[in-house]
Amino acid sequence: MVLPHEPEFQQAYNELVSALQDSTLFEEHPKYKKVIPVVSVPERLIQFRVAWENDKGEIEVNNGFRVQFNSALGPYKGGLRFHPSVNLSILKFLGFEQIFKNALTGLSMGGGKGGCDFNPKGRTDAEIRRFCVAFMRQLARYIGQDTDVPAGDIGVGGREIGFLFGAYKQMQNNWSGILTGKGLSWGGSLIRPEATGYGVVYYVEKMIEKATNGKETFKGKRVAISGSGNVAQYAALKVIELGGIVVSLSDSKGAIISKNGITPEQVEAIADAKIKFKSLEEIIGESVSAFSGSNSVEYKAGARPWVHAGAVDIALPSATQNEVSAEEAKALIAAGCKFIAEGSNMGSTAEAIDVFEESRSKNVWYAPGKAANCGGVAVSGLEMAQNSQRVSWTREEVDQKLKDIMYTCFDNCYETAKKYSKDTTELPSLLKGANIAGFLKVADAMFDQGDVF
Ligand code: NDP
Repeated sequence: MVLPHEPEFQQAYNELVSALQDSTLFEEHPKYKKVIPVVSVPERLIQFRVAWENDKGEIEVNNGFRVQFNSALGPYKGGLRFHPSVNLSILKFLGFEQIFKNALTGLSMGGGKGGCDFNPKGRTDAEIRRFCVAFMRQLARYIGQDTDVPAGDIGVGGREIGFLFGAYKQMQNNWSGILTGKGLSWGGSLIRPEATGYGVVYYVEKMIEKATNGKETFKGKRVAISGSGNVAQYAALKVIELGGIVVSLSDSKGAIISKNGITPEQVEAIADAKIKFKSLEEIIGESVSAFSGSNSVEYKAGARPWVHAGAVDIALPSATQNEVSAEEAKALIAAGCKFIAEGSNMGSTAEAIDVFEESRSKNVWYAPGKAANCGGVAVSGLEMAQNSQRVSWTREEVDQKLKDIMYTCFDNCYETAKKYSKDTTELPSLLKGANIAGFLKVADAMFDQGDVF
């Protein structure tokens, strides 16, 4: 059931339901209609108080949440977001997306999401640690390696996962894989930090290959990326490795535009400074040698990159939800953009998606986040598998498995779209393919388990 004060959840729900309705699925198999009212209500919603002590010895209070949305395919799995904008509508949208995304990885994971309206920016390490301990004091009783396995998201990276894991272990006297994104020396998986960004690029590799009959690759393509956090950084590095030119990055304060292409050294400088919560404007001001001469960038205060990036072949929104508007979608297409794949969850507004989908007949191809960014949770699934076996796979092994998962996910979206789409454009709708393929896997499991009958 969707509630009127949950606009983000409503948007995610509408995306799924309209993709299903605008296909032949319900005509061919009417029974699946019965799944929608069931799958759209979380199995469990947990809300809790997080009271913690700041560096001045004062008490601060935040709202903590965990949405355990669907466990048909496995333990609830999905990240934790620490950001002042966090509320139930946002976490329900993220949890809902996560159900179908996790299904698209082919691994056994249910869907969940959680977080807190805590703002980590400007906090000391000690404050972040005390906050994480207080947060886990509540969360610990609801998670477990076979129950619910959270990971990172906006505002939750390796440092926070470490503090959260340490707190859990001490409280429960139990060392088990209850979080993913752990440190490499204590149960983490190689390639997990890189996985979402790399995975988006692997997915787009397949889009380019299919759309150009194997004639083109990332080589020489101009790629606009938004965000400068975990997903954006590794997407940028993989694009550069494959011979593409990264023309933009951004953060919540503004965007940087590069004519000659962002360099790996610049990405590294940004990664080092972002852990200390610096803005891109501060970073380019302080790392003068990295951002000068032929490597200089233009800073656009308060702007997203899309209308400023110049000629663009590929756009990878990788910051946050609803970060591409209809006007920006039109501007991207006018600038030559042919491929759009979301590193962020629900990166495009519903209106922007309409613009992309309507342009499919002109060879513009859009991939929704639930397919394109499933690489992160996929490697989280591989981290769980390694934890269960008490082994560590090599970098090459994990990267190869990630590639296989992303390529298979693309093929699944493509074939499902061809099978159920009503339109006959040469490029089928990956929006529909992703939603239908993810939904079918979850729906079938729900029928088998008696959740729907
Ligand atoms: P990070 O916290 O590492 O980075 C987030 C980036 O987005 C930062 O550059 C941040 O700017 C920017 N940003 C955050 N909020 C806003 C906003 N309201 N407006 C503009 N910019 C904003 O997060 P991740 O890179 O992990 O996540 C990015 C996106 O990818 C999210 O949508 C997340 O849900 C999605 N995702 C992440 C996965 C993962 O494995 N990490 C997996 C799948 C999806 P600033 O530095 O100024 O805060």
